[in-house]
Amino acid sequence: MKDTAQIMGIQFPKRTLDESVNILRQVVEEPQPELFHVVTVNPEITMACQKNTELRSIVEEAGMITADGIGIVMVSRIKGSHLPERVTGYDMLLKLLEVGNEKNWSFYLLGADPVTNPKACEVIRATYPNLEICGNQHGFFKPEEEGRIIEEISAAKPDFLIVALGAPYAERWIHQHRTKLNAKVAIGVGGSLDVIAGKVKQTPEVWKRWNVEWLYRLIQQPHRWRRQLILPQFAIRAILYREGRR
Ligand code: UDP
Repeated sequence: MKDTAQIMGIQFPKRTLDESVNILRQVVEEPQPELFHVVTVNPEITMACQKNTELRSIVEEAGMITADGIGIVMVSRIKGSHLPERVTGYDMLLKLLEVGNEKNWSFYLLGADPVTNPKACEVIRATYPNLEICGNQHGFFKPEEEGRIIEEISAAKPDFLIVALGAPYAERWIHQHRTKLNAKVAIGVGGSLDVIAGKVKQTPEVWKRWNVEWLYRLIQQPHRWRRQLILPQFAIRAILYREGRR
């Protein structure tokens, strides 16, 4: 059995959340010479990669990619190469915070609005008192502030740089500045800080279990409907896509 599932030309490793986090644990213990970039690839990114070669190379150059969302997992199953489960940015972040609390890892939190970012830090500090938040910065900074922010991250030397700027902006930002960030691992986590801070409601387990997390998010944030139109388009295109040989 192959250890990856190919969807629209992207190789998704057949890894669970725990297996993915275990790899990151090794990266923190034995840091790589370069920043280890984790990209959680959702249907929107997969579709965007078909036209956008810059985004495609960011995904291909990443240290790890994960299957972000049930859409990717279902398509893999229909195409006969089963991905074991979805590994979303939010689930990955929660697991990293849990393990980080045992291992005293340090985290720099970049992104979300100016009220939500410090609120998320406060919640994380209270819930995971043994990890270190070595810096934080909201995500609505001016272009002229960027240099100062990069220097601050670099001086803080975080084990994990958590980037909640939205996809694919976060992925581009990490890739563009990867040589200057001085973090061991960087990961884009979408709107996860909004959920941690309580600005956006967390999807209840039962909605996740029935694979209708997308519907819950749509009800919570109806303005997302236009973005979610991409899901059926993705399903059809991905199922019909003729994957090349590897
Ligand atoms: N955001 C930000 N700076 C920006 C635009 C967005 O920090 O210039 C934040 C926003 O506040 C939210 C996150 O990025 O916390 C994006 O969340 P969304 O759910 O839209 O992201 P996705 O899950 O689609 O990546």
